[in-house]
Amino acid sequence: MSASHNFVYTANPARVIFGTGTLALLSDELERLGVTRPIFVGTRRQEAMLRDLAADVTGPAAQVFAGAVMHTPVTVTEAAMALVAQGGVDGIVALGGGSTIGLGKAIALRTDLPQLVLPTTYAGSEMTPILGETQGGAKTTQSSAKILPEVVIYDVDLTIGLPLPQSATSGLNAMAHAVEALYARDHNPITEMMAIEGIRALADALPRIAMAPSDREARSDALYGAWLCGSCLGAVGMALHHKLCHVLGGSLNLPHAETHAVVLPHALAYNAAAAPEAMSSLGKLFAGDPVMALVELARQIGAPTALRDIGMPYEGIEIATRAALANPYWNPQPLEEDKLRTLIARAWAGSPPARMA
Ligand code: NAD
Repeated sequence: MSASHNFVYTANPARVIFGTGTLALLSDELERLGVTRPIFVGTRRQEAMLRDLAADVTGPAAQVFAGAVMHTPVTVTEAAMALVAQGGVDGIVALGGGSTIGLGKAIALRTDLPQLVLPTTYAGSEMTPILGETQGGAKTTQSSAKILPEVVIYDVDLTIGLPLPQSATSGLNAMAHAVEALYARDHNPITEMMAIEGIRALADALPRIAMAPSDREARSDALYGAWLCGSCLGAVGMALHHKLCHVLGGSLNLPHAETHAVVLPHALAYNAAAAPEAMSSLGKLFAGDPVMALVELARQIGAPTALRDIGMPYEGIEIATRAALANPYWNPQPLEEDKLRTLIARAWAGSPPARMA
């Protein structure tokens, strides 16, 4: 896209600190925000680290809630809100991946408390004003300035121990934000720059991480890529790929990042004919067919390539097809039921992605 076209770019006003050892700046950053008694949120799996951090920063009386889970269930948020309601909490520190960050965002939406996020995966949620919550089995997504974290501290050290499967799938989840940003209806030269650079950084770093998980430089490149890809998600609208993953996660309870990893090349193949500029940019970046490059990347880093391998039953193909056609997102390629069913069936079986036009 050339800057000679008219365009609108809305920047999301977050303060970003990036590097290694940057966790040491947490207390200064909280002070800068005027936060003295934050609630620390995280998952059970990361609870020990969360408690240590909380005790370091605010002492033994720190408020800690380590019950974050995937898809931000409202029941979990309500349990955390009960702690907030005890009084005195004046900010939120979220240490973790998209599940933890989702919980921090859900608290911020209800309280407008400032958020400081310490991401430990590559999912990119920290850069968006978007929150997906689940209640009664249905997932609804909303966007609000209250949801956007005020400060993000990226510390490469926090990602060194991210296990390989989650490194691969959350990295592909981030790449999906940038791929869809390239053909978004409201794409612009700024998001395009971030998308290409984010995809480049992750495509280069993820295979290096697969070879040597504690390669600090590769981890740093991946985290940088995740930041840029997350910024794309926060800045422009998403299309078929995100709709499909939303539907597969919401109605069939498939794991979020793994679903993104499987669906991405299929969704890109579906849209390829209607997104020539995006395909051309990606073709240059990958020096070849972007659809097959994404398939090869997933194979190289050990990411899943079939929905049936991550828990989707065969009957899910029909359920997902119908759900994807209900309230569809804008998409460059018109949605046609038969073609959509074929896409989902191929992703279910792990067959090579097929171009649909
Ligand atoms: P996650 O947050 O669910 O984490 C997966 C598991 O890995 C958890 O058990 C977590 O404790 C553990 N983990 C995380 N970092 C670790 C580390 N460094 N070392 C060891 N274990 C670690 O995974 P995710 O893929 O980051 O997030 C998925 C969720 O994020 C979904 O609910 C999705 O909807 C949401 N999401 C939201 C947005 C948005 O903009 N709203 C964007 C992307 C993802």
